[in-house]
Amino acid sequence: MMNILVLFGPPGAGKGTQAVKIAEKYGWKHVSTGDILRAEVSQATPLGLKVKSSMESGQLVSDELLIQIMESVLLKNKEIPGFVLDGFPRTINQAQELDKMLQRLGWGISRIISLNVNEDELVKRLLIRAKEQGRKDDTEEVIKNRLVQYHQFTKPLLDYYKNHPGFRDVIGVGDIEGIFKLLCKAIEAEK
Ligand code: AMP
Repeated sequence: MMNILVLFGPPGAGKGTQAVKIAEKYGWKHVSTGDILRAEVSQATPLGLKVKSSMESGQLVSDELLIQIMESVLLKNKEIPGFVLDGFPRTINQAQELDKMLQRLGWGISRIISLNVNEDELVKRLLIRAKEQGRKDDTEEVIKNRLVQYHQFTKPLLDYYKNHPGFRDVIGVGDIEGIFKLLCKAIEAEK
């Protein structure tokens, strides 16, 4: 059975950090749409040039582009036993299209884990990350915008997913290893 884990949460919740650890432990592919887009921007590809200004101002990139990207990643990696989706889906439309895509492949979402972190902690973490990684979208103004986008477009997805049998909540505050243990427990729990 194909394992499809959706790691859900606001920017700064620690999805990227934990997704890397999960992918390593279970031998799954980590798919970060943010990383894919950043690579396109830094290589100045036609796609990168198209999405650069949205990304740098903290706006979401169009659903159409993201859906195309996700479909091509899934199709290219069909032999892998699982995927950790980090940063996708981010809108109801993306979630609906993901369901259709997975259905076409004979797959389905096995787990959706919502990583919960309060807003003050998120801003604090994002500002620290700005210093450490120099991400262009981690300035205070852009962070605010990304959180607005999260509340407006992404948070409503919780309603879309909360009745899914694989839905779980995990507290994302504490040390990285402790949170990782909680995530593994949620991944391995019976449905
Ligand atoms: P992230 O690294 O996941 O925070 O993503 C960085 C930026 O990439 C976001 O602020 C968006 O501009 C863009 N992005 C990444 N994933 C998506 C998505 N699923 N839908 C729309 N835009 C996205």
